[in-house]
Amino acid sequence: ESFETAGLREILVNNLKKAQYTKPTPIQKYAIPAGLEGRDIMGCAQTGSGKTAAFLIPIMHQLLESPGEIVTGPCAQPEVIICAPTRELVIQIFEVAKKYAYSSILKVCMHYGGASSAHFNRQLERGCHILVATMGRLKDILERGKISLASVRFVVLDEADRMLDMGFLGDIQHVMQHSTMPDVADRQTLMFSATFPDAIQKLASQFMKNYIFIAV
Ligand code: AMP
Repeated sequence: ESFETAGLREILVNNLKKAQYTKPTPIQKYAIPAGLEGRDIMGCAQTGSGKTAAFLIPIMHQLLESPGEIVTGPCAQPEVIICAPTRELVIQIFEVAKKYAYSSILKVCMHYGGASSAHFNRQLERGCHILVATMGRLKDILERGKISLASVRFVVLDEADRMLDMGFLGDIQHVMQHSTMPDVADRQTLMFSATFPDAIQKLASQFMKNYIFIAV
């Protein structure tokens, strides 16, 4: 079958065309329609499965349908937060999101340990709809009042099992239970993990509602 772009916003379709995907990968085949319906998703998929597009496409489509006010200034109010365990993965997701957002109004920012605050502040001056960050940095900028989660509508926890292996459980809890984080009912939450041990099942039931489980 062909890559299903019917019904997606035109800008997104055009940018996807440049990626020359012809056939959806298995995770995309199931996660994109469910994501577009607004479902929370637990996706068990490895790196290389095409999971980045599986979460970015439904989120960016919905964002383009109803983008919020862009807030500039010292405290960012992203509508999407995407957390990943490593700097490399953050950069990779950021690059893909930038490609999909090309020539649209959507502003994509990133932050990770070791990146300068000055560089992050410069990104915030242009606005931030989508923030891709490592969990540690996200917690850090929340504590320093650099971002508020009050406008968040979409949350992605990518490679959640690796985040736990790296000792980020406390930071995940801190961010997901932050006073400015909208209730589980008022946001769409997507979690991806290569494995599905007890600790991940617990996170899934704690931070998602009626989620659809997709294993590829
Ligand atoms: P990911 O698992 O998201 O890191 O993606 C792995 C690689 O597969 C990336 O280089 C993507 O550009 C590529 N990719 C993702 N979706 C597709 C698709 N439907 N067809 C061909 N390549 C894809």
